[in-house]
Amino acid sequence: MKNIETLKKENMNLSEKIYIFDTTLRDGEQTPGVALTVDEKIQIAQKLNNLGVDKIEVGFPASSKGEIESARKIKSLDLDSTLVGLSRSLKSDVDAVLDADLEYIHTFIGTSPLHRDYKLKMSKSEIIAKACEAVEYGKDHGLTVEFSAEDATRTERDFLVEVYREVVSSGADFLDVPDTVGILTPILTHELITDLKDSFKIPLSVHFHNDFGLATANTLTAIECGVNQAHVTVNGLGERTGNCSLEELVMTLKASYDIDLGLDTTRLYSLSNLVGRLTGVKMPVNKPIVGANAFAHESGIHVHGILNNASTYEPMSPEMVGHSRRIVLGKHTGANALKSKLKKYHIDLNDKQFEKVFSEIKSLGDSGKCVTDDDLVAIAITELGSARETPIIMKGLSISMGGNVSPTATVKLEIDGNEKEASSTGVGPVDAALNAIRLLVKDTVDIKLEEYNLEAITGGTDALAEVFVISSDSDDNKSTGRSTNQDIVMASILAVLDSMNKLLLIKRA
Ligand code: MN
Repeated sequence: MKNIETLKKENMNLSEKIYIFDTTLRDGEQTPGVALTVDEKIQIAQKLNNLGVDKIEVGFPASSKGEIESARKIKSLDLDSTLVGLSRSLKSDVDAVLDADLEYIHTFIGTSPLHRDYKLKMSKSEIIAKACEAVEYGKDHGLTVEFSAEDATRTERDFLVEVYREVVSSGADFLDVPDTVGILTPILTHELITDLKDSFKIPLSVHFHNDFGLATANTLTAIECGVNQAHVTVNGLGERTGNCSLEELVMTLKASYDIDLGLDTTRLYSLSNLVGRLTGVKMPVNKPIVGANAFAHESGIHVHGILNNASTYEPMSPEMVGHSRRIVLGKHTGANALKSKLKKYHIDLNDKQFEKVFSEIKSLGDSGKCVTDDDLVAIAITELGSARETPIIMKGLSISMGGNVSPTATVKLEIDGNEKEASSTGVGPVDAALNAIRLLVKDTVDIKLEEYNLEAITGGTDALAEVFVISSDSDDNKSTGRSTNQDIVMASILAVLDSMNKLLLIKRA
């Protein structure tokens, strides 16, 4: 295989400088269901600046007063990144960008037949006139102007080139090529960008959407063909399935192409988490670079390799992006993984104790359940005999329901040797019982139910119900609990008590 340096020389036309244009606060905010407050936008802008992105598109000032306010506030932070405002090809939109105190405008107009005929209802010459008017107006007001031909990839090539030529003569500083509905593939990108690079001397930019999961691959191809700038978003957020992901592009360039954009990539993971939290769009576990599993290992063979040399099963180190390596316990866990985990928690077991803990972890894994670190600690501590007692014991339960009365549960528990009783209502009997338990234990353990799964193991009304729960405490310890019982309410209560007891053991250990 040829190495990357040879390929760079022979097959690529890389630009000297590649600008990262982040549009998390604009296109990213257009993710369905996402709306950011001014304060949240400020937090994200600061983190993007600390990461070192060249440009931050802060919003669409013409769309609301709040957008203008947030742009102004971000401007007042005096960041190093250049701040950009979006604008349609309308003087009033350009005025809003000026009003927001920004010096760089990203102005666009739809150029494809679909946009001309169905959205704008304008002829080709009207489109060109509007585009040039906005570019000239922006230049007259001292702005740096980036022009986007919206839906460029579905625009007739000769018309696309004509539009770009006209806006260049009107003074545009950057030409942006949006793949608005994400229809490009790497080879189509190669053809388009090579053609445009041959036709234009001013910097070219790309704005690629991810409808077929190719936004990062296409953006990378565009960079190989010489574009000077890539539009990206944190976590790949954006309209529909989003845009090219900032972290994927930056890390591919850094780790695979040996192109350092001068960004502090160790900030990527925390930036991703912040954006996930503020937008409410959580990343799937298998999201590249920033997903929970990006550096997680479970199988015995892989963990064995990782423990000897992490590069065996990792293409880059988690430290490069501020993430961390995680050894996960489950059905594929090997003895090496378990030993390294126990060492991490400073738990010394003799061989016999180790075997028992190992087989318990395996059987939990075999039953299809995940095993958290806290589970392991609880199991190991129990095995060590340092805390064999069960702090909370079920002593009695009665449920009453019927008619239009809310179900009521009375629960009696023994907590550290003292019997206590409480009643509560709920939407159903399980909810009522769990509410009563919460009242009883509130001074002992602050528990939150994160996951609740009920399964009938056999058929019939006397079927065994298996309940599996994951709960967490205020220190964010997590523990699973399980119980099997012919009664659903009882199975639920016992599963919750099981996980509570584990959390208490961890806390007290
Ligand atoms: Mn877009």
